Amino acid sequence: MSYVDEVYESVVAKNPGQPEFHQAVKEVLDSLRPVIDANEQLYRKEALLERIVEPERQIKFRVPWVDDKGQVQVNVGYRVQFNSAIGPYKGGLRLHPSVNIGIIKFLGFEQIFKNSLTGLPIGGAKGGSDFDPKGKSDREVMAFCQSFMTELYKYIGPDTDVPAGDIGTGAREIGYMFGQYKKIRSAYEGVLTGKGLTFGGSLARTEATGYGLLYLTEELLKLNGIELAGKTCLVSGSGNVAIYAIEKAHQLGAKVVTCSDSNGWVYDPDGIDVAALKEIKEVNRARLTEYKKYRPNSEYHEGRGVWGIKADIALPCATQNELHLDDAKQLVANGVIAVCEGANMPTTLEATQYLQENKVIFAPGKAANAGGVATSALEMSQNSERLSWTFEEVDAKLKDIMVNITHNMDDAAKRYGFEGNYVVGANIAGFEKVANAMLAQGIV
Ligand code: NDP
Repeated sequence: MSYVDEVYESVVAKNPGQPEFHQAVKEVLDSLRPVIDANEQLYRKEALLERIVEPERQIKFRVPWVDDKGQVQVNVGYRVQFNSAIGPYKGGLRLHPSVNIGIIKFLGFEQIFKNSLTGLPIGGAKGGSDFDPKGKSDREVMAFCQSFMTELYKYIGPDTDVPAGDIGTGAREIGYMFGQYKKIRSAYEGVLTGKGLTFGGSLARTEATGYGLLYLTEELLKLNGIELAGKTCLVSGSGNVAIYAIEKAHQLGAKVVTCSDSNGWVYDPDGIDVAALKEIKEVNRARLTEYKKYRPNSEYHEGRGVWGIKADIALPCATQNELHLDDAKQLVANGVIAVCEGANMPTTLEATQYLQENKVIFAPGKAANAGGVATSALEMSQNSERLSWTFEEVDAKLKDIMVNITHNMDDAAKRYGFEGNYVVGANIAGFEKVANAMLAQGIV
């Protein structure tokens, strides 16, 4: 049996009931075969793959808090510090009822390679809780965030582990967590990113993942001789990543005609109204059913359906495994040119394979959504310098980083004879740096 298959089998056996983690490991290891085959003897002796699939540390803790009725609630908190070979742990905190250790491990594992791809010195981690901020009062969210941080603070620090936002963790949650950390530690330090602008946050961090996705998409299309301007796009989700992906797509001359939330989806043939979407989601924290009030010509549908609309480019920006094989078939039948992932692992393995077989340009999330973590690392730099850069400075650095990622994954794919396969390219480009650092640092 090949080294890759041996390690994958042992991951499945040792981590039962964690299908998302198995899926992420399979995707990465399968695409690394050319590099691993070329270095098999060394990697086997050093147990490099066995080490890279095992988190350095996994923390699981109780998060008790009191709701508005005086009832005590108990959630579970997690932080998985996966790999610190190239820098302090970095990765978001997800607050969603679906969170469990397998989800956090899949996200932490992906984060190792994504962070490496940015070219910045940051290791991989992820955390979160099964707490659902939806429908909770501000006081309840604060109570949860304070309790969560009262345990998490022991394991994080500006040179150790710097968490950020993710699904369900936006500026409000980061603010409450930062406040509690500062109180407990009596230290004003850059321990979280995604902070408010008045207390150490970076301009352009809110926009970074969505904007970065479009910078990469534009560059990737250019590499393939195609212009983004004038194209019609499908976006799923209506959260942080989706909103700013739509905004930047429109600024670059493309038109986005869909968005969604976990209840339904919107089709607006004239192009999604970003100001309306921001008011619904960011200000009113409401549902997409409200959208029709702003745009009477749009359609609202319950359930799933975004991928059935005819368009040139698909940008899944909601959550993992939201674009299935049937959706991929529909997209191909409708002549889609490119699928670029704003969310983490939104496309199933079978759907990815189908898209690639049908010559659809496919950019994996670990490259395409790396703009968020890259700008978080820029926030860390500004905090260390005790300076704030302008929006234009941060946005220009973000664009440079995304253009570099595009070329690095393209080059890596070509170097190993997989031209145009950006999954292989992104994984190899991310892996090489981490593997070399791990080998250089000995058995730790
Ligand atoms: P948000 O919480 O702001 O938005 C998530 C969106 O996806 C919402 O519209 C939400 O709908 C929808 N969604 C979430 N879970 C599901 C589900 N199970 N089924 C259907 N729809 C769902 O999160 P973000 O925009 O920050 O994150 C989106 C994705 O991007 C995630 O995969 C995240 O890991 C990834 N990502 C985020 C980064 C960031 O900087 N924020 C950086 C890199 C990756 P509803 O409101 O109904 O729940």
